[in-house]
Amino acid sequence: MTAADRCDRCGAQAYVRAVLASGGELLFCAHHGREHRDALREVARDIQDESRKLASTSSIAPVDER
Ligand SMILES: [Zn+2]
Repeated sequence: MTAADRCDRCGAQAYVRAVLASGGELLFCAHHGREHRDALREVARDIQDESRKLASTSSIAPVDER
């Protein structure tokens, strides 16, 4: 995901991408991604959550887990 990806709800930078079983795609910021996580699990076949990146940028260790 890039800085150009925006939350469908509030327009903030998106960190969570949900690929729906129906073929659609939803983008959420960290806040809304968390808020809708349970609902997304029901309908999404894949959820890409990069909100940990957001947390790691403000913490001490520059962890690259990929
Ligand atoms: Zn949002």
